[in-house]
Amino acid sequence: MNNFDVLIVGAGPIGLTCGIESVKRNISHLIIEKGCLVNSLFHYPTNMTFFSTSDRLEIGNIPFVSHGDKPTRREALEYYRRVADSWNLNIHTHEAVTDITSNQGIFTVHTSKSKYSTKNVIVSTGFYDYPNNLNISGEDLPKVMHYFSEAHPYAYLNIAVIGGGNSAVDVALETFRRRSKVTMVVREPSLKESVKYWVKPDIENRIKEGSIKALFNSEVKEIRETEIDIQTPFGMMTIKNDFVFAMTGYQPDYQFLSKIGIDVSGDESRVPKFNPDTYETNLEGLYLAGVVCGGMETNKWFIENSRDHAAKIFNHI
Ligand code: NAP
Repeated sequence: MNNFDVLIVGAGPIGLTCGIESVKRNISHLIIEKGCLVNSLFHYPTNMTFFSTSDRLEIGNIPFVSHGDKPTRREALEYYRRVADSWNLNIHTHEAVTDITSNQGIFTVHTSKSKYSTKNVIVSTGFYDYPNNLNISGEDLPKVMHYFSEAHPYAYLNIAVIGGGNSAVDVALETFRRRSKVTMVVREPSLKESVKYWVKPDIENRIKEGSIKALFNSEVKEIRETEIDIQTPFGMMTIKNDFVFAMTGYQPDYQFLSKIGIDVSGDESRVPKFNPDTYETNLEGLYLAGVVCGGMETNKWFIENSRDHAAKIFNHI
């Protein structure tokens, strides 16, 4: 059957809550995901611990039991797979949605493998697939990365970490603890306010004692195979470098959102247009759910505060 009442794009935790809501209401559904189940979580750093406690990450009334207060990435992968099993969710992984067109209230969802028709589409694609680029020479070198898995390969090497948010701080601390020589390059005068309060003293003390070097009000201007150029308040400086972690944040797939007709023409935060009560976009029957709702404001929505999007959407459907 290629005809469903609801088609959900993205099998992250919020896409799964939409699937659960449709099961609860006896509405047929299909979740299509271009990567694996909870693909963004899968690509988080291998040893990552969530900032939220496990109860706040629970969905579908299934208890999330973790060893510590805050669960690990590995525990979350196991948990969300169990949730998908328990609710018997209909999920196609490794199938990319390439376009969504509509004709007289019926959507056709085109994918890398097939075509589906549906009256309702929910886009819950998150924001983790598109890193914010630096737009500098050398950015395309293989030694420049926007994602981090683990620190071991970088032991003893010269690492530059760009950015002052939680991802940058995590990479700086993890690589420093595996004996990398770490320089943080932050374009603001300080680390971001959003750096978690229990992580902040650790990074601040490492910077104060000089074991992690931090250059504030500074920007990397060019990356070469063995060095990088940095514009600092004291002039241009060149330092030795083996790897660059550009932890410059991420953004939703605006090309896809625009292509399917969602209005993303707002101010600089580029929040897609949707009704805050129903999550319906400017297109009737097409909804947004989860962190994609925040546009460039990627600090606004998390799993824990967007779990209720699904119920609001299905009340409207
Ligand atoms: P972020 O909070 O958006 O921080 C990005 C950093 O990169 C900012 O310091 C930003 O500077 C800088 N930046 C952006 N573009 C740049 C450019 N072109 N050149 C130089 N610097 C640039 O991104 P994030 O740290 O990846 O965090 C994303 C979300 O994930 C946040 O909500 C965060 O709390 C969350 N997170 C959670 C965990 C966890 O649960 N354990 C771990 C990591 C991250 P400006 O401030 O000037 O824009």
